[in-house]
Amino acid sequence: MDTYDVVVVGAGAIGLSAAYWCSKAGKNVLLLDQFDIDNDYFSSKGESRFFRVMYSDPLLSLLAQSAYPLWRELEDDSGLTGILNDTSLLFFGPPNGVNTPEGNLAGAQTVLEEQGLPFRRLTAADFPDSYPVLQGLSDDVVGLEQPQAGVIAADRALLALRQLCQKQGVTFIPRRTVSRIQEAPAGVTVTTAQGSYTGKKLILVPSAWTNQVLESLNIQLALEIWTMTYAYFTVASSQYSYPLWFYFGAPKFPGDDTTTYYGLPPLLTPGRIKVGTDFTFKKSSAPPTSPPQADPQMVSLLNTFMRAHFKGLQSLAHDAVGCLYTMTPDVNFVLDALPGHKDIFLFTGDTGQAFKFTPVLGKILAELALTGVTQFNIQPFSIQRPGILKPR
Ligand SMILES: Cc1cc2nc3c(=O)[nH]c(=O)nc-3n(C[C@H](O)[C@H](O)[C@H](O)COP(=O)(O)OP(=O)(O)OC[C@H]3O[C@@H](n4cnc5c(N)ncnc54)[C@H](O)[C@@H]3O)c2cc1C
Repeated sequence: MDTYDVVVVGAGAIGLSAAYWCSKAGKNVLLLDQFDIDNDYFSSKGESRFFRVMYSDPLLSLLAQSAYPLWRELEDDSGLTGILNDTSLLFFGPPNGVNTPEGNLAGAQTVLEEQGLPFRRLTAADFPDSYPVLQGLSDDVVGLEQPQAGVIAADRALLALRQLCQKQGVTFIPRRTVSRIQEAPAGVTVTTAQGSYTGKKLILVPSAWTNQVLESLNIQLALEIWTMTYAYFTVASSQYSYPLWFYFGAPKFPGDDTTTYYGLPPLLTPGRIKVGTDFTFKKSSAPPTSPPQADPQMVSLLNTFMRAHFKGLQSLAHDAVGCLYTMTPDVNFVLDALPGHKDIFLFTGDTGQAFKFTPVLGKILAELALTGVTQFNIQPFSIQRPGILKPR
């Protein structure tokens, strides 16, 4: 049996980041994943993700502001530039857009004002000149434009973290499914079909598989696994400028939560934009047993939305992808020590928004594992807050 300072379970963005920070502190780290490093299951797959500080939740805005310099530090450490590519972000839609997992326009404006962050508010009259690529907007459309945003080259971010983990001596073992966790005299032991590994501390970042990983500790969380869909459109990017955007639509009936769409500009691949729905009809209490697939119904909604609101489309949606969100009931993260297990730390409930926080979430997990405390306010992410732990 091998013994490490820290064992990290889950080699997605956040687990890699935790391993990076622990090894940067000189610790002997083991990183395990049930799959190969690139696989079709994990939530961190794909070429791009949003970065933004424009949030309806003040804590997430502050956390994103903390993440920004750490992304630059990751670029410096790895020597890989172009991981976080600055560009401004547009929120738009009718003024009565619903509150969604991504917040809404009114909530975001409040937080921007409270935190003294720069932004520009747009009315319907501003759109034709500022965003000529948009069409079919309602007469009462409003917008918020915020400069502290960007496109994360997600695959490049993972590459940087993997290279740094390797350079800093992290032992990575793929195709190891952790099926059991036990306290041991020397720390915590995790068991896989191929062997057991002990760490003085254990960091768990198993996203959609959280409840499977926690089963042997008799801990279960109220999590839902959402299969999300995004796709690409070929666009006339030499004719129009395509922004980074979120559209918050008006509800068609009380409780309608199928109104939010998002898109990324053709920044990483010229002439190609990524567009997704921020809602799904595919929700499950269990992780998938086969790779998540794009939902044709969502692809059809993407085509309808894009044809209505964007000029210069040169294709319908293509190369559609299915990808998982792990949702908590209050759409907030879980980042905490496990109750009754002071040496085991968990990040889960990524709620479809964790990638932008990758460097800071990994840093927090490393701080907790190595010192027991963190400088960041993680109290709202407590596992003990109402509605998270399932009664057993
Ligand atoms: C369509 C889509 C769009 C998104 N857009 C954005 C965005 O624009 N901006 C943003 O910030 N975020 C975005 N996100 C969210 C972001 O991608 C995720 O929050 C983030 O990637 C989660 O990383 P993770 O490391 O927690 O989980 P994962 O990447 O899922 O990694 C978890 C790992 O744990 C491993 N594991 C699980 N169980 C075991 C076990 N028993 N033994 C060993 N290994 C195990 C899994 O194999 C997996 O590799 C998006 C997500 C999706 C799906």
